[in-house]
Amino acid sequence: MVLADLGRRINAAVAQVTSSTTSVEEADIDTMLKEISRALLESDVNIKLVLKLRDSIKKKIVNDKTPGLNKKKLIQKTVFDELCALVDCEAQPYKPKKNQANVIMFVGLQGAGKTTTCTKLAVYYQKRNFKVGLVCADTFRAGAFDQLKQNATKARIPFFGSYTETDPVEVARIGVEKFKKQKFEIIIVDTSGRHRQEKELFKEMVEIGDAVKPQQTVMVLDGSIGQSAQQQAQAFKESSNFGAIILTKMDGEAKGGGAISAVAATKTPIIFIGTGEHTQDFETFFPKQFISKLLGIGDIQGLMEHVKSLNLDQKDTIKNFQEGKFTLNDFQTQMTNILKMGPLAQIANMIPGMGDMMNQIGEEEASKRLKRMVYIMDSMTKQELDSDGQIFIDEPSRIIRVARGSGTTVTEVEMVLFQQRMMARMAKTNMSMMNTQKGRNPMA
Ligand code: GDP
Repeated sequence: MVLADLGRRINAAVAQVTSSTTSVEEADIDTMLKEISRALLESDVNIKLVLKLRDSIKKKIVNDKTPGLNKKKLIQKTVFDELCALVDCEAQPYKPKKNQANVIMFVGLQGAGKTTTCTKLAVYYQKRNFKVGLVCADTFRAGAFDQLKQNATKARIPFFGSYTETDPVEVARIGVEKFKKQKFEIIIVDTSGRHRQEKELFKEMVEIGDAVKPQQTVMVLDGSIGQSAQQQAQAFKESSNFGAIILTKMDGEAKGGGAISAVAATKTPIIFIGTGEHTQDFETFFPKQFISKLLGIGDIQGLMEHVKSLNLDQKDTIKNFQEGKFTLNDFQTQMTNILKMGPLAQIANMIPGMGDMMNQIGEEEASKRLKRMVYIMDSMTKQELDSDGQIFIDEPSRIIRVARGSGTTVTEVEMVLFQQRMMARMAKTNMSMMNTQKGRNPMA
C-alpha cells in the first residue's frame, strides 16, 4: 500500500466515527482502531508499534470524559498526535555551523540512494550559502565515483575522488583534509554500500569514521523496503552509530512503514526524505507536517520551503506567514509560483484539498483549475488581495464582480476564498508549530 492510501484509510476510519450524528461508543472506537491498525500493518509498520499506538489512542480517548462534539475533536487530535509520535523520536539532529568544517558521513546499503542523496544534501546546503564539497569514498562499486562526479558537476558542487586509490579510508581522509584546508564548511563523504550487511562493510565504515571524524553520520534508508528496514537500521546503528536518517524513495510505491519502524527502533530522527531521482526531489522532514500531508490536511510550510528553495519571489508571503497571516495576495503569489514550479503532482499534496482533487480529476484538469484560481485572484482589487477575505463576506456583490471579471463562476470564487481561509488558519497553527519545532531540525 502506498503512503497516500494509508492516509486515506486512516482518514476514512476517523471520519466514520467523527462524522456520525450519534454519540461515540466504545465499540465505534474499537472499529476505528482496528481499521487504523490494519492499514498501518499493511504499510509494514512493525506490529509492536501498531499495538502500542492502538492502546495509547484507546486509553486517551476512553479515559477522557469530554462529551459530544468535543469528544470527536479529541479523537481526531489523539489519532493525529499518536501518528506524529510514531515518526518523531524527539532526538535533536546535529545542526551544521557556519565558518567551520562540518563533516557529514553517509552510510547505507548499496542501492539505498546514498550517492543521489549526497548531491541532494549538498545542493540543499549550497542554496543556504554554505561552502560545500563532496568526497566519494566508495571504491567498491565500479562507477560510483563517475556517478558522484556527474551529479556534482551538474549541480556545480566541488568533488573529490580517485580512480587509482583502492583504499576507501585513504580517499576519505585525503578528500576531507583537502576540503578542510580550503575552508569548506560542509564536507559530505559518500561511503560504499554492499548488497547485504557484511562484516567488511561495517569494518570499513568504522575505519572511515575514525579517519574523517564526522560531526554527523547519516544513514540513508530505502523507504520502500518494508519490514527489513528496521533490522537493517539496527545493524548499522551498532556499527556506525548514525545520528540521523534520510529516507529515500518515498515517492511512488513506498509503503514507508518499515522505515518508520526503523526510526522508532533506533531512536534516531529522520531529517529529510527523498521523493524522486532528481536533485530537487528532497524535502525537510517535520513529523507534524509529514502526518498532516499523509492525512491530506495539507502542508503549507513545506510548500513555502519548496518555493523558497527555487528562489521565486515571495518575500512578503514568508514574512506574513511567519507572523501567522495568509492574505489573498499571498495565496495569489503561491498559486502563480506553483504554476511556474511543476510538476504539479509533487506539490499538490501540500495544498489542502488539492491532493484529493488531483487524484480525482488528473494533473491536466487540476492544472486548468489552478489557472482559473489565478485568474480569479487577478480580477481582485488591491484592497481585496491585501485582505484576509472578510471583505467578501461583508460585501458578497464583490464575489459576483470577480466571477464576471475572471470568466469563472461564483462557486469557483467562493472555493478560492474557502481555501484561502483554510490556509490562513494553517498559517496560524504553523506559526505556533514552528516555534515549538525550532532547533529540532537543520532547517530551523
Ligand atoms: P547508492 O548505491 O546507495 O549510492 O544508491 P544510488 O544513489 O546510486 O541510487 C540507487 C537508485 O535509486 C538510483 O537509480 C537512484 O536514481 C534511485 N533513487 C535515489 N533516491 C531516490 C528517491 O528518493 N526516489 C526514487 N524514485 N529513486 C531514488
